[in-house]
Amino acid sequence: MQNQQKVLFIDAASGYYRIESYRVGDFFGPIDLGLFLAGKHNSFNVGVGLLAGSIFPGSNRLFFNCFSSSWGGFYVSSMGGAGLVFDNLGVNMVSIIGRAPVPSILYLNRVHSEQKYVEMEPVDLQRVWAAGRGGIYSLFDHTYDRFGGRYEDASRILAVGPSALCTDFGAIGSVPIAKGKLSCVDTWAGRGGLGSQLLQRHGIAAIIYGGTYADEDFRDRKVADQWFVEKYQKKLAAKDLEATAKYRFEPKFETGGTFGVNYATLGGRIMFFNYKSIYMDESERLEIYEKHIVNHYLKQFNEETIKPKQQYTCGEPCPAVCKKMNNEFKKDYEPYQAMGPLCGIFDQRAAEKLNHHADRYGFDAISAGGVLAWLMECLAENLITPDELGVNTTPVFSSKGFSTVTDSQHNADLGVALLDSIVLKRGLCDFTEGARKLARRLAREKDKKILDIFVYNANARKGWMVPNQYWTPGILSPMPMMGKYYLNDGTDFIPPR
Ligand code: SF4
Repeated sequence: MQNQQKVLFIDAASGYYRIESYRVGDFFGPIDLGLFLAGKHNSFNVGVGLLAGSIFPGSNRLFFNCFSSSWGGFYVSSMGGAGLVFDNLGVNMVSIIGRAPVPSILYLNRVHSEQKYVEMEPVDLQRVWAAGRGGIYSLFDHTYDRFGGRYEDASRILAVGPSALCTDFGAIGSVPIAKGKLSCVDTWAGRGGLGSQLLQRHGIAAIIYGGTYADEDFRDRKVADQWFVEKYQKKLAAKDLEATAKYRFEPKFETGGTFGVNYATLGGRIMFFNYKSIYMDESERLEIYEKHIVNHYLKQFNEETIKPKQQYTCGEPCPAVCKKMNNEFKKDYEPYQAMGPLCGIFDQRAAEKLNHHADRYGFDAISAGGVLAWLMECLAENLITPDELGVNTTPVFSSKGFSTVTDSQHNADLGVALLDSIVLKRGLCDFTEGARKLARRLAREKDKKILDIFVYNANARKGWMVPNQYWTPGILSPMPMMGKYYLNDGTDFIPPR
């Protein structure tokens, strides 16, 4: 077991780097150490926990943290599987300080014992984002073409899209790379606008990493099984299978993954049309749920994704196989809810179109969905004109006579146009300082209702976060870090302590 955590400090302004060690006991992992370093150096931290590389399920998550100007405080986001390759760098954390003079790619490669493994290379972002598959996907391709061949072993890429440049809610995306091919199973550190922080505060648009370092990770299955049998009366693998059933296949509901199980069980707790559904009767909500969700949106998912078993992992060997796909489209509940029913979209083709567009721009998908739904209600209520948002239509935002396929497609097309407006800063769509500040300004200049109908968790003066997509009290609670599951997200009301 390690008794030191090694941190590779990189000054993005000069490319200089150094390694420092921190005693385990003073700090226990990437979060408390990241909080310390962010407080001391205002750094952007990427790291893994002490168990990374071990046989424990989920131990290969990669953690990102820094002060987030979107949330207005310290924020943590994480990504499944991306820690497995990071472990080969031979450090527990990379801590970035300073700002590169021009947008750059950070290259990290630990070759055997060689210590020189950091390089920075400028990148013409607008040209790369406009080429090939577009946006973040083109930056993955460009980075891999440029540096991928230099690795003896596996490598992995983290990148941002155009949303990171023009808003405070750009995410960090990544894809596993297997046998020299970039997979289409993208993984995200979505929340908190950490992609915007990485690009705007440190000038880094992509990081490619990997190495040959092999440390002594805990891999003794016999010992682990003994611990698990003592605690759970089951071996590790059996307990893992039991705990991850919802993510793989839940026979009780004949579906799987967060999308399948949540939509199979939501009933009247479904939220749609920018949360206007909460003012409806339960019976009306249930009618919409049956008609548009159970008999169409969920049905399509079960037929296209669950039956043919289009399921993959994030890159970590994991029995949960939680990445539910329909060809290149990954179906998670939260993005397909926020850029689904919340935006008046109940059809997979329409939702795929909008979600993929947002992913290409590299948005935090939940926040993008919340912002789009808000703008759509502003349009539907004539609080803002289409012209002012750089679009040419209004949404279908009422359940009366709603056509599942046609109206969903119409709303998705409008969503795509609104995302273009945000990235191109058309009309009033300037989200440079965040959605809450924009909403407050529009409320002052135009109509107070514009702010009232924007649903967000607030923090500090301008911090904002579109809540996770569950209609439960914990999701709206005032906490130091919202948009995560560091809370009780059950449906029951618990009295304050
Ligand atoms: S496949 Fe899903 S559940 Fe398994 S480690 Fe990756 S993100 Fe976690």
